[in-house]
Amino acid sequence: MKCPRCSSNDDKVLESRQNKDGSSIRRRRECLRCGYRFTSYEKIEEKPIIVIKKDGSEQSFDIRKVERGVRTSTEKLKIPAGTIEKLLNAIEDEVVEKSGHERRISSTEIGEATLRQLYKVSKVAYVRFASVYRQFNDLGKFISEIEHIANSVDED
Ligand SMILES: [Zn+2]
Repeated sequence: MKCPRCSSNDDKVLESRQNKDGSSIRRRRECLRCGYRFTSYEKIEEKPIIVIKKDGSEQSFDIRKVERGVRTSTEKLKIPAGTIEKLLNAIEDEVVEKSGHERRISSTEIGEATLRQLYKVSKVAYVRFASVYRQFNDLGKFISEIEHIANSVDED
Protein backbone atom coordinates (compact mmCIF):
# COMPACT_ATOMS: atom_id res chain seq x y z
CA MET A 1 0.00 0.00 0.00
CA LYS A 2 1.24 3.44 -0.95
CA CYS A 3 2.58 5.51 1.96
CA PRO A 4 0.60 8.78 2.25
CA ARG A 5 3.78 10.61 3.21
CA CYS A 6 6.56 9.37 0.94
CA SER A 7 4.63 7.28 -1.64
CA SER A 8 6.79 4.22 -1.06
CA ASN A 9 5.01 0.91 -1.62
CA ASP A 10 6.92 -0.97 1.07
CA ASP A 11 5.08 -1.28 4.32
CA LYS A 12 4.48 -3.78 7.04
CA VAL A 13 1.14 -4.50 8.70
CA LEU A 14 1.25 -3.88 12.44
CA GLU A 15 -2.28 -4.93 13.23
CA SER A 16 -5.31 -6.21 11.34
CA ARG A 17 -8.76 -6.16 12.65
CA GLN A 18 -12.02 -7.31 11.17
CA ASN A 19 -15.10 -5.53 12.42
CA LYS A 20 -17.93 -7.41 14.13
CA ASP A 21 -20.07 -8.23 11.11
CA GLY A 22 -17.08 -9.06 8.94
CA SER A 23 -17.77 -6.26 6.46
CA SER A 24 -14.40 -4.57 6.72
CA ILE A 25 -10.79 -5.02 7.70
CA ARG A 26 -8.75 -2.23 9.10
CA ARG A 27 -5.00 -2.55 8.98
CA ARG A 28 -2.53 -0.46 10.87
CA ARG A 29 0.54 -0.10 8.65
CA GLU A 30 4.03 1.27 8.97
CA CYS A 31 6.02 2.54 6.00
CA LEU A 32 9.37 0.74 5.83
CA ARG A 33 11.01 3.72 4.15
CA CYS A 34 9.98 6.68 6.30
CA GLY A 35 8.39 5.00 9.33
CA TYR A 36 5.07 6.78 8.90
CA ARG A 37 2.12 4.92 10.42
CA PHE A 38 -1.20 4.92 8.65
CA THR A 39 -4.45 2.98 8.49
CA SER A 40 -5.96 1.22 5.52
CA TYR A 41 -9.59 0.36 5.46
CA GLU A 42 -10.77 -2.44 3.24
CA LYS A 43 -14.39 -3.19 2.68
CA ILE A 44 -15.29 -6.82 2.17
CA GLU A 45 -18.98 -6.36 1.60
CA GLU A 46 -20.17 -4.31 -1.34
CA LYS A 47 -22.85 -2.43 0.51
CA PRO A 48 -21.36 0.50 2.42
CA ILE A 49 -22.80 2.05 5.56
CA ILE A 50 -24.59 5.25 4.65
CA VAL A 51 -24.28 8.24 6.94
CA ILE A 52 -27.19 10.67 6.96
CA LYS A 53 -25.98 14.14 7.76
CA LYS A 54 -27.92 16.84 9.58
CA ASP A 55 -28.80 18.61 6.32
CA GLY A 56 -30.23 15.35 4.97
CA SER A 57 -27.39 14.61 2.57
CA GLU A 58 -25.82 11.16 2.53
CA GLN A 59 -22.30 9.85 2.29
CA SER A 60 -20.65 6.51 2.88
CA PHE A 61 -19.15 5.89 6.30
CA ASP A 62 -15.42 6.40 6.55
CA ILE A 63 -13.70 5.62 9.85
CA ARG A 64 -10.81 7.84 8.75
CA LYS A 65 -13.02 10.89 9.19
CA VAL A 66 -13.78 9.81 12.75
CA GLU A 67 -10.07 9.15 13.26
CA ARG A 68 -9.17 12.69 12.19
CA GLY A 69 -11.61 14.14 14.73
CA VAL A 70 -10.34 11.83 17.45
CA ARG A 71 -6.70 12.68 16.71
CA THR A 72 -7.42 16.41 16.80
CA SER A 73 -9.25 16.03 20.13
CA THR A 74 -6.50 13.94 21.72
CA GLU A 75 -3.59 16.02 20.46
CA LYS A 76 -0.79 16.48 23.04
CA LEU A 77 -2.68 14.46 25.66
CA LYS A 78 -0.13 11.62 25.59
CA ILE A 79 -2.80 8.98 25.07
CA PRO A 80 -1.15 5.70 23.98
CA ALA A 81 -1.63 4.76 20.31
CA GLY A 82 -3.10 1.43 21.41
CA THR A 83 -5.80 3.20 23.42
CA ILE A 84 -6.77 5.29 20.40
CA GLU A 85 -6.89 2.16 18.24
CA LYS A 86 -9.21 0.47 20.73
CA LEU A 87 -11.37 3.56 20.88
CA LEU A 88 -11.70 3.66 17.08
CA ASN A 89 -12.52 -0.05 17.03
CA ALA A 90 -15.26 0.48 19.60
CA ILE A 91 -16.74 3.37 17.61
CA GLU A 92 -16.64 1.34 14.43
CA ASP A 93 -18.39 -1.59 16.09
CA GLU A 94 -21.06 0.71 17.42
CA VAL A 95 -21.61 2.25 13.99
CA VAL A 96 -21.94 -1.19 12.39
CA GLU A 97 -24.33 -2.34 15.12
CA LYS A 98 -26.52 0.77 15.04
CA SER A 99 -26.70 0.93 11.26
CA GLY A 100 -28.28 -2.55 11.30
CA HIS A 101 -29.53 -4.34 8.21
CA GLU A 102 -30.46 -1.04 6.59
CA ARG A 103 -26.82 -0.03 6.94
CA ARG A 104 -27.84 3.55 7.58
CA ILE A 105 -26.88 5.75 10.50
CA SER A 106 -27.11 9.46 11.29
CA SER A 107 -24.01 11.58 11.71
CA THR A 108 -25.40 12.58 15.12
CA GLU A 109 -25.32 8.95 16.27
CA ILE A 110 -21.71 8.63 15.12
CA GLY A 111 -20.85 11.85 16.98
CA GLU A 112 -22.49 10.53 20.13
CA ALA A 113 -20.72 7.17 19.87
CA THR A 114 -17.43 9.06 19.52
CA LEU A 115 -18.22 11.24 22.52
CA ARG A 116 -19.07 8.24 24.68
CA GLN A 117 -15.81 6.53 23.82
CA LEU A 118 -13.74 9.69 24.29
CA TYR A 119 -15.34 10.29 27.66
CA LYS A 120 -14.01 6.94 28.88
CA VAL A 121 -10.49 7.77 27.73
CA SER A 122 -10.07 11.47 28.49
CA LYS A 123 -12.42 14.15 29.78
CA VAL A 124 -10.29 16.80 28.09
CA ALA A 125 -10.54 15.08 24.71
CA TYR A 126 -14.25 14.66 25.26
CA VAL A 127 -14.80 18.38 25.87
CA ARG A 128 -12.60 19.30 22.91
CA PHE A 129 -14.51 17.01 20.58
CA ALA A 130 -17.85 18.19 21.94
CA SER A 131 -16.99 21.85 21.50
CA VAL A 132 -15.74 21.39 17.94
CA TYR A 133 -18.25 18.90 16.58
CA ARG A 134 -21.39 19.91 18.36
CA GLN A 135 -23.13 23.19 18.71
CA PHE A 136 -23.94 24.09 22.26
CA ASN A 137 -26.09 27.18 22.53
CA ASP A 138 -25.39 27.79 26.15
CA LEU A 139 -23.23 26.50 28.94
CA GLY A 140 -26.19 24.94 30.78
CA LYS A 141 -26.98 22.75 27.82
CA PHE A 142 -23.33 21.78 27.53
CA ILE A 143 -23.12 20.77 31.19
CA SER A 144 -26.36 18.78 31.08
CA GLU A 145 -25.04 17.03 27.99
CA ILE A 146 -21.88 16.02 29.84
CA GLU A 147 -23.90 14.79 32.80
CA HIS A 148 -26.23 12.86 30.53
CA ILE A 149 -23.34 11.11 28.85
CA ALA A 150 -21.59 10.52 32.18
CA ASN A 151 -24.73 8.76 33.39
CA SER A 152 -25.05 6.62 30.30
CA VAL A 153 -21.40 5.59 30.67
CA ASP A 154 -22.05 4.51 34.26
CA GLU A 155 -24.89 2.30 33.12
CA ASP A 156 -22.64 0.22 30.90
ZN1 LIG B 1 6.75 6.49 3.80
